[in-house]
Amino acid sequence: MVKEKRVIFDEERCKGCELCTTVCPRNIIFMAERINTQGYHPATVKSEDQEKCTSCALCARMCPDTVITVRK
Ligand code: SF4
Ligand code: SF4
Repeated sequence: MVKEKRVIFDEERCKGCELCTTVCPRNIIFMAERINTQGYHPATVKSEDQEKCTSCALCARMCPDTVITVRK
């Protein structure tokens, strides 16, 4: 069974500032290899790391472009 993601990135809107990667207490956010349509490496979380997310929402609060949605 596929679990619902806890943290979701609207990757096409990410500007690659990396702020979210610095605040995650679980250290699961990283910059993807691929490049989005704006020309940035978007922040993301691997599906296998989703269950490590505590839904603390620090990343979402830090993001200047409201790219990140966190579910409980
Ligand atoms: S909600 Fe918290 S634990 Fe989950 S990815 Fe964001 S900063 Fe990390
Ligand atoms: S803080 Fe927002 S814009 Fe910056 S890298 Fe993270 S998701 Fe992208």
